[in-house]
Amino acid sequence: MSDHAHELIIIGGGPAGLAAGVYAARDGLDCVLLEKQHPGGQVIRTLQIANYPGFTAPSSGIDLADKFRRHAEEFNLAIRTETVRSLIPEGGLLKIATDQNLYRTKTAIIATGSSYKTLGVPGEKRLEGRGVSYCGSCDGPLYKGKSLIVVGGGDTALEEAIFLTRFAREVKLVHRRDTLRATRGLQKQAHATGKIDFLWNSIVREIRGETKVEAAMVEDRREGGVRELACDGVFIFIGSTPNNDFLRGTLALDEEGFVIADISMRTSLPGVFAAGDIRKDSVRQIASAVGDGVTAIMNAERFLDTQP
Ligand code: NAP
Repeated sequence: MSDHAHELIIIGGGPAGLAAGVYAARDGLDCVLLEKQHPGGQVIRTLQIANYPGFTAPSSGIDLADKFRRHAEEFNLAIRTETVRSLIPEGGLLKIATDQNLYRTKTAIIATGSSYKTLGVPGEKRLEGRGVSYCGSCDGPLYKGKSLIVVGGGDTALEEAIFLTRFAREVKLVHRRDTLRATRGLQKQAHATGKIDFLWNSIVREIRGETKVEAAMVEDRREGGVRELACDGVFIFIGSTPNNDFLRGTLALDEEGFVIADISMRTSLPGVFAAGDIRKDSVRQIASAVGDGVTAIMNAERFLDTQP
């Protein structure tokens, strides 16, 4: 149990939180970073990062996350594995309760990111880890010569589908509309593989299989009707939801639950800043998360200068 008020608590150890932590620790702030799992955030699920400026040789997500963590630790940032349960303003300070401790702090940076969305169809939960996957880099190599379905039409779905063609015999990309959300560059790369079959205006209604995935029931929204497509795996990449469980009722969120913040990363609660994927309108890039984290810490330090 902390018996004094910290100057800053950073909640979340992805690129946004760790970037803020590097600055805070280097500037000598009395700061703690709370992360419920391993530092790195969703980055560790990325097999190859090719668009982070300065990294001319593509790096793996795990490598980059490790570099972020080591950099913060070099400046002696205190990183603790704790799950934050609530954040409440109290007596001019912020009270943060975790599964292990109670903290009081003058400022906080919320950088808890987002988690992958699920389809919510029959069979999905039951067959997770037995053919249903949300991580190509984790599970792709298990599907050598197999037939896969990828769900989604954004950058993640395309990037992962392209990656999965390295292993799978065939990849069917099921998308609910007839145009992709993904960037043109990724669309070109996906077509260039020659191994991705696009199923437009299609929705996975059910995932079937006894002990492992054997088929998906796919509805054709234009023609009507549902057909069974035999497959060995269903990889789902349909976006993400904000990790905001501890925030409900405390500060302003948008209709999807992302934290509303201004260009200085200030939220509706004085002294609380938001950075990275949790922030409404984030473009959800590693580089933008780092930028958010740095903007948040600079403005948190300015806020601290105004406090007694
Ligand atoms: P996203 O851009 O939100 O795309 C989600 C996709 O899933 C959309 O195509 C959406 O369809 C579809 N979808 C959503 N809910 C669905 C449902 N219930 N059933 C079926 N389909 C559903 O998510 P993302 O691809 O994970 O990307 C998130 C952010 O990260 C984006 O800003 C993206 O640019 C960024 N990102 C960048 C890179 C990169 O720079 N290399 C890589 C990965 C991600 P609709 O299109 O019809 O809405």
